Amino acid sequence: TSSPALVRAESLIRSIPDHPEPGILFRDITPLLADREALQATTEALVAPFRGSFDVVAGIEARGFILAGAAAIEAGTGFVPIRKAGKLPLPAASVDYALEYGTATIEMHDDLPAGSRILLIDDVLATGGTLAAGRRIVEQLGYHVAGISVLFEIDGLGGRDVVGDVHTVFRS
Ligand code: AMP
Repeated sequence: TSSPALVRAESLIRSIPDHPEPGILFRDITPLLADREALQATTEALVAPFRGSFDVVAGIEARGFILAGAAAIEAGTGFVPIRKAGKLPLPAASVDYALEYGTATIEMHDDLPAGSRILLIDDVLATGGTLAAGRRIVEQLGYHVAGISVLFEIDGLGGRDVVGDVHTVFRS
């Protein structure tokens, strides 16, 4: 029961073979972001299941920032960035997680009221390592994960099992 706008939005996700490395089928959402109707419909779809149940939206660097910022405006809440290590001036928590090759670290400030309910957003769910780390850092700071919402889920990588309860708008 997808609206025409969502059907159109899905058609604007472009698949690029071998980017950024051989063997990776990269899901490029920039054509979707450039389209007024598609951006509006997907933003609405990211927020819809969680309306009224969160106080703020957090996005994971970098493409998660775009969607989370849009979702915050859509929902009438504020926005909080979860950034790669070394970018935030006053990180209050830091979480390491595994990538396909090597590890990565994310950081977050702790300027929200204690117990804040956070909607966590990213663009693509692949292995789930990034969003699982996002969940951990939110909880480490004493905030509550009200929900996790993702634009595009890559099936067959087990991401859903790693992240736990996650809402996805489109999937492969
Ligand atoms: P993962 O931690 O494996 O779930 O990877 C998720 C993160 O990597 C997201 O922030 C995505 O932006 C990015 N990512 C992983 N795989 C892809 C892909 N095939 N196309 C686009 N982005 C991807």
